[in-house]
Amino acid sequence: MSEETNIRRLDEDTVARIAAGEVVERPASAVKELVENSLDADANRVDVTVEEGGTELIRVADDGRGMNEADLRAAVREHTTSKIEGLEDLESGVRTLGFRGEALHTIGSVSRLTICSRPRGADGAGTELVYEGGDVTSVEPVGCPEGTTVEVEDLFYNTPARRKFLKTTATEFAHVNRVVTRYALANPDVAVSLTHDDREVFATTGQGDLQAAVLSVYGREVASSMIRVEADEDELPPGPVDAVSGLVSHPETNRSSREYLATYVNGRAVTADAIREGIMGAYGTQLGGDRYPFVVLFLEVPGDAVDVNVHPRKREVRFDDDDAVRRQIDAAVESALLEHGLLRSRAPRG
Ligand code: ADP
Ligand code: MG
Repeated sequence: MSEETNIRRLDEDTVARIAAGEVVERPASAVKELVENSLDADANRVDVTVEEGGTELIRVADDGRGMNEADLRAAVREHTTSKIEGLEDLESGVRTLGFRGEALHTIGSVSRLTICSRPRGADGAGTELVYEGGDVTSVEPVGCPEGTTVEVEDLFYNTPARRKFLKTTATEFAHVNRVVTRYALANPDVAVSLTHDDREVFATTGQGDLQAAVLSVYGREVASSMIRVEADEDELPPGPVDAVSGLVSHPETNRSSREYLATYVNGRAVTADAIREGIMGAYGTQLGGDRYPFVVLFLEVPGDAVDVNVHPRKREVRFDDDDAVRRQIDAAVESALLEHGLLRSRAPRG
């Protein structure tokens, strides 16, 4: 005999939209997923176009590996990926930025998604797939260049509560800008451009030089004040970090926002208190209160010392030994600043 219960299983649509909210919080999170897909597809060029902060339109066009019709149909399904086969791949350390196989599916369940793609080297037309609110509504042969162009229109059109939660165009665009900037700086060998409401915000050349990428993104004043940081294991105090490299600004080139601290662990953009505190420690009193330098810093950490299975939205990482990381970063940045005579000498700390 069965009793009454009001505990029921949610229908698939509802489940998908709830899940989508966890992956795609705002336009910038969709941009992040799409740019990561382009980089994973080995693109040499990634052009990001957004309208109204990404709320009306997000377009990411790449010249990467591309997809054929079967790939396209598979790509928008739930939990479909070409990047890993199973848990073993995760444990041995994933090299791609994505591997969860949920981005296209979830973005498409809360927007109108159009993907046009042609595999590299394939002749003939490409394929255009339209996916709206979670359903494939059309698949057609369409002329398109080699590579992939993804368009996301009317994000959250079918989840009004989330749509309402979005901030102003300026705020949403600031988040988009930050995401694209992070990837442009981390991939100077890829030509990355960002256009907002028909205005080109920046475009890197893809010539492979970090200094040149900084110039394209932040402009001449900042680029000309950057100095190189380069320290490997032998030069660093003991700790989990094997190598540090990148660029940091002259103390006089600073801003009142942490926004310009672009830090990476094994190529992934992350924020970490230990890294930030290490940087700020190195500058010491050279920076006024609440002022931050421009930093683009890459840390290499052994694969087994970082957990890649982090939530897609979380950029914050922690290390087993935060103190050691702080000391390592402090030392690396300090020695670069000292070398350029940019620090008043200070008493060694214990
Ligand atoms: P994931 O990136 O975790 O694999 P996605 O949902 O983001 O999951 O993408 C699903 C699959 O679609 C990818 O594994 C990849 O094979 C393919 N794909 C997505 N975007 C692109 C792209 N820009 N170029 C080529 N293939 C792509
Ligand atoms: Mg992906």
